[in-house]
Amino acid sequence: MPTIRRQIIDLLSQRKYGARDLSQALSVREKEIYAHLPHVARSVISKKQCLQIIPPRCISCGYVFKTRKRFTRPSRCPRCKDERIKEPRYQIL
Ligand SMILES: [Zn+2]
Repeated sequence: MPTIRRQIIDLLSQRKYGARDLSQALSVREKEIYAHLPHVARSVISKKQCLQIIPPRCISCGYVFKTRKRFTRPSRCPRCKDERIKEPRYQIL
């Protein structure tokens, strides 16, 4: 397993992180974090753990993207069309 993924697993096992927090903590681009997350999700399953996603939320109206399966931040709110979306956060439980 590449070191970066192990570092992501270590961090997410300690507390919740957003992709931006992870990218700053590990000095990699946010885009790269998103590319690693599906692999991280698969690899923790084998350890009987789960990568939990705290869903993104619209800052303007409070809409929660509960059914979203992707890891990235949605571009805008389906309810009020606002583009200020609080990014999803992740945690390994
Ligand atoms: Zn909204």
